[in-house]
Amino acid sequence: MTNVTLITGDGIGPEIADAARRCVDATGADINWEVAEAGADVMKKYGTPLPEVTFESVRKNGVALKAPITTPVGTGFRSVNVYMRQELDLYACLRPCKSYKGVRSRYTDIDLVVVRENTEDLYAGIEYEKGADDTAELIDWLNEHSERKVASDSGISIKPISVSATQRVFHFAFEYARKMGRRKVTSVHKANIMKYSDGLWLEVSRQVAKGYPDIEFEDRIVDNMCMQLIQKPELYDVMVLPNLYGDILSDLCAGLVGGLGVAPGANIGEKGAIFEATHGSAPRYAGQNKVNPTALILSGVLMLRYLDKMAEADRLEKAVAAVIAEGKSVTYDMKADRNDPTAVGTKEMADAIIAKM
Ligand code: NAD
Repeated sequence: MTNVTLITGDGIGPEIADAARRCVDATGADINWEVAEAGADVMKKYGTPLPEVTFESVRKNGVALKAPITTPVGTGFRSVNVYMRQELDLYACLRPCKSYKGVRSRYTDIDLVVVRENTEDLYAGIEYEKGADDTAELIDWLNEHSERKVASDSGISIKPISVSATQRVFHFAFEYARKMGRRKVTSVHKANIMKYSDGLWLEVSRQVAKGYPDIEFEDRIVDNMCMQLIQKPELYDVMVLPNLYGDILSDLCAGLVGGLGVAPGANIGEKGAIFEATHGSAPRYAGQNKVNPTALILSGVLMLRYLDKMAEADRLEKAVAAVIAEGKSVTYDMKADRNDPTAVGTKEMADAIIAKM
């Protein structure tokens, strides 16, 4: 038995968590689920959206399947999602984007993987507000030490990229490529402009690539990468990007395969891994047994592969693909007309997937 924490989340979370759990169980994967609460719904009970008992369960088990959690606005609580990623140092965000027959999209046969560095870059949260004293001090220092001048009415965000963080995310990407039988890794950057941050990223990626001669390696400048993905997505395989470009290209790639309803994801580090859909808690659909459970179920597929349960993962992915291809027992968002009365609910779509296994 493998222990896994199931975080049921809030909004549409509990419904899709139940659907995903039942689908994973139907593969025979022998998971011992530790069900744990988090999110807006438990704020009253625990005084925090992330009870210690929930986080402790994730720390202990090292693997969690997590339904979406609302980020409360203006309550003083930070994002539970960001907090867990930072505390567990989940440095690689994995977003496979694959076409499934039956999902409406402009493209067919897309099979891409985005690996986003999760801890550095402009997302490091090192920011200086316009007009603040420390900002003025920083601007004075910069103007003294640089030929380029920074205007005194600037706000500043810092973009750190380190050798160590770049090395570990590329090792992760190459190891993933090897394990999953992928052929190529592309390092994405803007090294021609940002020589000391993206330039370092490129240099380190080239060094790490030397240790993986069995996997093809190349690099692309991020703006060109965007155009190539729209024109010739079939040329690419695993793409590795610093945090900000990774955020943007993840959405671009999700768009290539039909959007949020089918976009799974994972945040992975040495201390653990959290598998979750790319979409959020869609609060206005909560409790209606209406939304699409596919993204979280496919996150379950990623989790099974992470746990080396390859046959179970393949079985579940095939069952999901079959139900989507048939187009009968699918939720409203997968129908050509969103008001199609033949659309089924979250639970019924999961039942149809289970029936295919
Ligand atoms: P959202 O993804 O929750 O919803 C946007 C819209 O997408 C929904 O109104 C709905 O039309 C559609 N949608 C989303 N999931 C769907 C599904 N499974 N099936 C069918 N349609 C679906 O984005 P949002 O409204 O910006 O965010 C709501 C809350 O979720 C916010 O508090 C946000 O911070 C949070 N959030 C959490 C996570 C996470 O837990 N990892 C991720 C993103 C957003």
